[in-house]
Amino acid sequence: MIVQSICDLIEEFAPLALQESYDNCGLLVGNSQQEITNVLISIDITEEVVDEAIAKNCNLIVSHHPLIFSGLKQLTGRNEVQRSVAKAIKNDIAIYAAHTNMDNVSQGVNGKIAQKLGLINTQILIPKQNSLHKLITFAPIAHAENVRNALFSAGAGHIGNYDGCSFNQDGIGTFKAKDGAQPFVGEIDILHLEPETKIEVVFPTFLQNQVVNALLENHPYEVPAYDLLSLNNPLPEFGTGLIGELKDEVDAIEFLYQIKQIFNCKSIRYTDLLAKKIKRVAICGGAGSSFLKHAIAAKADIYISGDFKYHDFFETQNKIIIADIGHFESEQFTKDIFYEIITKKMTTFAVRISDIKTNPINYL
Ligand SMILES: [Zn+2]
Repeated sequence: MIVQSICDLIEEFAPLALQESYDNCGLLVGNSQQEITNVLISIDITEEVVDEAIAKNCNLIVSHHPLIFSGLKQLTGRNEVQRSVAKAIKNDIAIYAAHTNMDNVSQGVNGKIAQKLGLINTQILIPKQNSLHKLITFAPIAHAENVRNALFSAGAGHIGNYDGCSFNQDGIGTFKAKDGAQPFVGEIDILHLEPETKIEVVFPTFLQNQVVNALLENHPYEVPAYDLLSLNNPLPEFGTGLIGELKDEVDAIEFLYQIKQIFNCKSIRYTDLLAKKIKRVAICGGAGSSFLKHAIAAKADIYISGDFKYHDFFETQNKIIIADIGHFESEQFTKDIFYEIITKKMTTFAVRISDIKTNPINYL
């Protein structure tokens, strides 16, 4: 087993292309071809976590928060990041992070929170923008089905709860093969008219390479014609936060006690309960204060996230309850996601969840 195999598994679940522009996900330290024995999973990487990996003979650490986030300009051991990186390199330990890409998939950080809360009918709170493309191509009518199916198999044509979505229209394509060409139909230097089907499919932008490769491999023409268009539609399956519903509405204070227990919170900071019953719940693991307005627009009764500042609590417009459960607390179950992804495919492989408490915040 090599490091790359674990990277591939995680990226199949949470493609790297879904990370935010400011982020630094992926393999951060180590060689992708290095053999691995055991994997250690953590939310954060501290020097203590690297020590734990050494003690437990783990030579890959998978974390949610990237150890190297902003530029690393020296490796002199001046701070904990530098010391952790140096120690990892010295001990042949690879380091991998899946951060906002894990936030942006519906079964990721927020999907896990929703599962813990028992939410149903969940949807992405803020669907990702500028992440949808359309491919238009033209195939001989008899080959259109084969080309279309290849595009579907590569991940195109998925809209909401529907697969195999495409638009098809027959027409006439023209081309004249020049010297050196090996046309599928037609002859050199004679304008050829071919009955063709125009096929249109949409796909998430991060699948572009595999969709175009599927087209090129399955289209009978020597040089298939195709258009790639960037769409302004949001991508509803991917994005920030989730909104969902409880099966039965519950008193706000009772729900807060449930949250406290589920997330093992020492304290929850919350706004006025507004004599509300809770049915619609918006969530965003980590620092989600800037998405409060989206939770209000989605008519959530409560918004569960972390890292709210004093003035953020004034922004509820008496329409929503804020529950700040803590950054670490909200993301703690992300360790289970990594564990499930890896152990589902690698049944004989040793995967350990870190015992180190990396949450830097204590409560008195
Ligand atoms: Zn976080």
